[in-house]
Amino acid sequence: MSQREWIEKDFYKELGVSSGASQDEIKKAYRKLARDLHPDANPGDTRAEERFKTVSEAHAVLSDPAKRKEYDDTRKLFAGGGYGRGGFGPGAGGGFSQEFNIGDIFGGAGAGDGGLGDLLGGLFNRGGTRTSSRPRRGSDVETETTLGFREAAQGVTVPLRMTSPSPCTTCHGSGAKPGTSPRVCPICNGAGVVSRNQGAFGFSEPCDECRGSGSIIDDPCVDCHGSGIQNRTRTITVRIPPGVGDGQRIRLAGQGEAGLRGAPSGDLYVTVHVSQDKVFGRNGDDLTLVLPVSYSELVLGTTVSVPTLDGRVGVKVPPGTADGRILRVRGRGVPKRGGGAGDLLVTVKVAVPQKLDGEAVEALKRYQEAERASGFDPRAGWAGA
Ligand SMILES: [Zn+2]
Ligand SMILES: [Zn+2]
Repeated sequence: MSQREWIEKDFYKELGVSSGASQDEIKKAYRKLARDLHPDANPGDTRAEERFKTVSEAHAVLSDPAKRKEYDDTRKLFAGGGYGRGGFGPGAGGGFSQEFNIGDIFGGAGAGDGGLGDLLGGLFNRGGTRTSSRPRRGSDVETETTLGFREAAQGVTVPLRMTSPSPCTTCHGSGAKPGTSPRVCPICNGAGVVSRNQGAFGFSEPCDECRGSGSIIDDPCVDCHGSGIQNRTRTITVRIPPGVGDGQRIRLAGQGEAGLRGAPSGDLYVTVHVSQDKVFGRNGDDLTLVLPVSYSELVLGTTVSVPTLDGRVGVKVPPGTADGRILRVRGRGVPKRGGGAGDLLVTVKVAVPQKLDGEAVEALKRYQEAERASGFDPRAGWAGA
């Protein structure tokens, strides 16, 4: 975030506190707003989402006394006419990066070494709202994770391990052994290309000596072998909200690569794969289930205990239920963002015994006769066909 943005944004007003507010007042105001505006509580409400981000931004600055002072000073300078006269060197107080401290709101402990990440905004494939206008913002990072069916349905906190290239910490990206520095290539004088004249033609080609880099490292850094780049693995803990579907891509604001010199970090996009479940299927927010029943259970009716995501529920099969009928149990499906849950849809399916003992076969034959005598004709609808 640039200082220009600081000047344009009144963080105190965003939080509804006075500029003399105590840290405690700021924290309280933020918690209340963040709860009211949280995307989980306002599904699909882009205005609430924007406000939520702004409020989070305001809190990230004002809750940190050093940043708050820097912010106050910046705005004071502007009020005094200092802005525009080159009074704002980049990184004056340095290192402000955007941070949404969701952990603060939910009291979640910062598990893992990357702290507790959370999903912000219209994370569900809304896309298209990249904040690419910010200078030197860190790159977005893509990763994927596989969740169990029930984890995805109910929400889960997972560690994500990510490997991404970053400047070597030993040589600070120079590629040269600490204490030494790369020297300018004497062949191309640092240009990385050399000109060659051949007859009437002059053309350029990459310098062989430095392989086009323009500098020569006599003593390479042992940790990065002179490349200046290290693959660093980090683990962040991410809360995946309930109801994520297979193949969905979710965005974690600010969890991508670090920005240069304090610029905002990029975003992290996580593609979620959801594994199949033995018992449940899903249709949007509805949970589906096939309930095997016997013929007599369908005819006479029964109550069967069926599994749900968080326990079991008794499902009443009314007498005379047709095979294949779907029984709906309200509110026992997949939790929805913003509260509530879909339904559990139970499809009854007759299980036909492959083998019966003599007594059961005899009883069934007697039943068949009784059924015919009663006038039941399964193919009555075919009359004339
Ligand atoms: Zn190195
Ligand atoms: Zn060269």
